[in-house]
Amino acid sequence: MEKPNVYILNWGKMGAADAASKLGDNAYSADTTVGLIEYEKNGNKKKLMLVDAGMAVAWPEIKKNLEKYGSLNQVTHILMTHWDQDHGQNLKELAGKLVLSRAGTARIGTLDFGQINDLCPNGYIENEYIKWLETNSAHSRDELVYIIDSKNEGLIAFLGDLIFAPCSVLPIANLIGFDTGFTINPVKKYLFLKKLVRDYPNLSQAYIGHYNKPLSYDDLIQHIKDLESEEYQRFLKTFLNKQEPENKKLRSQLK
Ligand SMILES: [Zn+2]
Repeated sequence: MEKPNVYILNWGKMGAADAASKLGDNAYSADTTVGLIEYEKNGNKKKLMLVDAGMAVAWPEIKKNLEKYGSLNQVTHILMTHWDQDHGQNLKELAGKLVLSRAGTARIGTLDFGQINDLCPNGYIENEYIKWLETNSAHSRDELVYIIDSKNEGLIAFLGDLIFAPCSVLPIANLIGFDTGFTINPVKKYLFLKKLVRDYPNLSQAYIGHYNKPLSYDDLIQHIKDLESEEYQRFLKTFLNKQEPENKKLRSQLK
């Protein structure tokens, strides 16, 4: 079985929302990274997968870039990192394809629904070089990280929004704001990233949801160091302390 090739069809970014949008001071303008995997299974002809589908506003660009490598007809799967809507608006363009996620997998446009463990029980998807890892609901409920041993880019990872952007772009104070609003469990996120670099020392690059270039292995190490800063670790401890009274309150309502 040949190793797949990996390309990026659209780079993510994040910035201040257009004032004309009148969404308010805390709104952001986002664009989402969309990956393309060119693979073969059992010596069959080239097939394609997308990693995330991206936002509807970017679809013309995504489609144009996809057509440099093949056609929409060749797309078999969409590998969702997670179900935040900025990563999935274009699923509407992909009827008949299989969309995979930890939260459930489905043939788009049908009622058929299943679980990734049933469809991909060996930890890989169609081609043994395309692997999925569970994050155990770190940034988002039931997300997956994809690890691909590619022919053209070496060993790479799609991390979704486990990292929004490096701290040189999104400083810790802003990251804490993002994680307070959008991350289910920042402690699990930090621990997952630590385990990832330990388990995959040969990772050459990682693609993240809202940043316009890949992160190198050294960038990942730096990011973990940033998460180990006093400010962020204090945030993680506060997060854990908050869980206790909340859980206690819930416990008190049980029969
Ligand atoms: Zn996102």
